[in-house]
Amino acid sequence: MSEPVLVLRGLTKEFAVRRGLGSSRRRVHAVDGVDLEIGQGEVLALVGESGSGKSTLARCVARVLEPTAGQVLLLGTDITHLSRRALRPHRRHLSMVFQDPSSSLNPRMTCEAIVEEPMRVVRAGSAQERGGRVADLFRQVGLRSELRYRYPHELSGGQRQRVALARALALDPDLLIADEPVSALDVSVQASILNLIADLQEERRFSMLFITHNLSVVEFVAHRVAVMYLGRIVEEAPREQIFADPQHPYTQALLSAAPAPDPERQRSRRRILLQGDLPSPIDPPSGCHFHTRCPIAVERCYREVPELSGITSERHLVRCHLVTAAGAPRIAERVAAGS
Ligand code: SF4
Repeated sequence: MSEPVLVLRGLTKEFAVRRGLGSSRRRVHAVDGVDLEIGQGEVLALVGESGSGKSTLARCVARVLEPTAGQVLLLGTDITHLSRRALRPHRRHLSMVFQDPSSSLNPRMTCEAIVEEPMRVVRAGSAQERGGRVADLFRQVGLRSELRYRYPHELSGGQRQRVALARALALDPDLLIADEPVSALDVSVQASILNLIADLQEERRFSMLFITHNLSVVEFVAHRVAVMYLGRIVEEAPREQIFADPQHPYTQALLSAAPAPDPERQRSRRRILLQGDLPSPIDPPSGCHFHTRCPIAVERCYREVPELSGITSERHLVRCHLVTAAGAPRIAERVAAGS
């Protein structure tokens, strides 16, 4: 089997915070010992509520943030502690698309200059070759050629996200990190950008870490899904297994709230309402972080941290004391039955 493009081992990120004058420093546990792998040409979707640590994890992978502990291996090289200078040759293997294209594109540059910039920085090709490549990239992301001479504020939100995608693909990265790439866009253009990302990925076979709070988006693009809750991965499985047979109570609740494309499947879904909000990552709940909202928590859940372990297969991992080889408790039925 070929080497994974990205490997995370025990990735941890904590931030020190002070909650007001005179108070002592506390620590926010944003990412808590995450192990993940993304293979060549594979799309891993990282799903969870806002505040679960997904974007912090992505920023640690891109080394925008320094991890507190653990390792980031990109194409087999440990980049966790490389200096800025030593990191430079590795940067071209990885690029990022952010949620809000308005703030990620330089408003003082034309769209052509924005897309050309990564090539200029690494001195890839002559000015003429770069111009030809920009024209190709505009075509590939479905933008009219004349838009090259416009500024970002002259474009619609969907067009700006297409420019951001063209820029991210300029150096043919091995790994694209897409952090909520459609959630700031009008609903009417979300599907077209999702389709574009899926088509580009299929054509160019780059690997992707696709971050979203919306599970229904994932069904279009992901090969595998990892569900994150308060900094920890609670379930990871191939996409079909997550949608057909979710095991962790949190995944079951997320799925019950996501609209299904198939009306029959939508009708058969029983909505599971979680109590309360995501707890603060400062002093997260003991034991299983999810116990404060889990409708089927037992005493053990307050005391012991469940391991992330293979249940039905090595490739389907779940972090829950009550999920066994015999399967997961169906919480919709348990809640309806009042147990
Ligand atoms: Fe719920 Fe306990 Fe499983 Fe956590 S370990 S998800 S609290 S049943």
